[in-house]
Amino acid sequence: MNASTSAKVLAPTVKLLINGKLVESQSTQWRDVVNPATQEVLARVPFATPDEVNAAVANAKEAFKTWRKTPIGQRARIFLKLQQLIRENMKELAALLTAEQGKTLPDAEGDVFRGLEVVEHAANIGSLQLGELANNVANGVDTYSVLQPLGVCAGITPFNFPAMIPLWMFPMAIATGNTFVLKPSEQDPMVTMRLCELALEAGIPPGVLNVVHGGEDVVNAICDHPDIKAISFVGSTKVGTHVYNRASLAGKRVQCMMGAKNHAIVMPDANKEQTLNALLGAAFGAAGQRCMALSVAVLVGDAQKWIPELVEKSKTLKVSGGTEPGTDVGPLVSCAALSRVESLIERGLADGAKLELDGRKPQVAGYDKGNFVGPTVFSGVKPGMSVYDQEIFGPVLCLAAADSLDEAIEFINANPNGNGTAIFTQSGAAARKFQEDIDVGQVGINVPIPVPVPLFSFTGSRASKLGDLGPYGKQVVLFYTQTKTVTARWFDDSTTSQGVNTTISLR
Ligand code: NAD
Repeated sequence: MNASTSAKVLAPTVKLLINGKLVESQSTQWRDVVNPATQEVLARVPFATPDEVNAAVANAKEAFKTWRKTPIGQRARIFLKLQQLIRENMKELAALLTAEQGKTLPDAEGDVFRGLEVVEHAANIGSLQLGELANNVANGVDTYSVLQPLGVCAGITPFNFPAMIPLWMFPMAIATGNTFVLKPSEQDPMVTMRLCELALEAGIPPGVLNVVHGGEDVVNAICDHPDIKAISFVGSTKVGTHVYNRASLAGKRVQCMMGAKNHAIVMPDANKEQTLNALLGAAFGAAGQRCMALSVAVLVGDAQKWIPELVEKSKTLKVSGGTEPGTDVGPLVSCAALSRVESLIERGLADGAKLELDGRKPQVAGYDKGNFVGPTVFSGVKPGMSVYDQEIFGPVLCLAAADSLDEAIEFINANPNGNGTAIFTQSGAAARKFQEDIDVGQVGINVPIPVPVPLFSFTGSRASKLGDLGPYGKQVVLFYTQTKTVTARWFDDSTTSQGVNTTISLR
């Protein structure tokens, strides 16, 4: 037995969660969960069998019978407790997340925190899931609506936010009275599982939250399963489009948040220091592996003169393991992601973009096996180049140029994606014009990553999203419920008969 085989035998297994119990999968297909800074095998994750997926759905279906009628205050209190447990375990959750995903510890806490905000919002479900009532719509008739849960719902999550995105999904689905089957990313399922354990500790009853692991086959089984009513997906455009089409065809309600290419416009009147800091944080933070990462900056007019300073500042960022204090840029999630990003940088050069800063193969003391790429900057980037047309999902900032705000807006609107965008300026008029004319669902004004807090919803648009409603906030209450409208007449004993009404009018 060689060293790596022995490590695999010793690595703990990631469990399934079925009917309130953590269970060992009977699968014969497993994959390693690997620390991207060291290549240490942390755990092994199963690809659940069809029987295990069916068992998760069957238990969720059974649990729905009682959960749907559980008093709203009782549901809310579980999420009050869960938010407390997440706060108490923040350090442990962040450490687990950094170990399997790679991002820095402070950013891992941010990942957990942005999910925690959704849990806090779920605790407020009593005031979110309200129907409407219109009194006396006809003689003695009232009409009211109730928002009823759908049944078994499912969530499929990506690797890049293994805490926040599962927390976008199951708390609001369950708070609204549904039961849930979660399929986390097979690349980093451990922190997600820890959050689910905390959810059980907070009081989520058996069967209400279930977890199955796996890849394509498990996702397809979820899309096809007749007892699943709705699916929330977050991940790449290719897989999201497949999930949307397949699950819609099977009659499900589906929402898919997908890939992106997020642009910022830099106006020459912007505060230079603040703007450069914002651009670098949003382009290189999490090693560029955010769906809202700022991957293209459109420099307008004299802002093009800022390139040398932008490059010098980029060189000051520290590339290292996510647990090292002061690290700005951690490793990419996998060796495959590393070679993909390196080859896209190569293609950028071949396509004629100017490589202002090459972050490939950085020397990282103590982490010679890590999947690192340092901050990388291209200028002269144009549509038609691979570094512009593809989502790089690495620490690569592409710089494009425009002569005016109008030209910059037109450039961004011509890109098919619509996840996020930002403008840096000191002009209220320029900011307002941008806000009005830009065709992107989430807009930042001197804010580089405008992910809305859960009082609002995540509102990516165009090619970055399929389905109408967003994954948290007010919109997701509608996503996870069916509006039922009741028209009721209660006769007084004294009501005199109006005889037979053969018309459509209410009398
Ligand atoms: P991915 O699409 O590879 O994986 C997402 C999920 O789909 C995972 O659970 C995975 O197991 C499953 N999957 C993978 N291949 C599949 C296949 N062939 N068939 C069925 N299911 C499959 O995405 P990723 O690499 O984990 O995440 C990165 C992507 O997610 C980026 O494109 C990023 O922009 C996007 N993302 C979008 C948002 C958003 O809100 N718009 C947020 C985070 C990430």
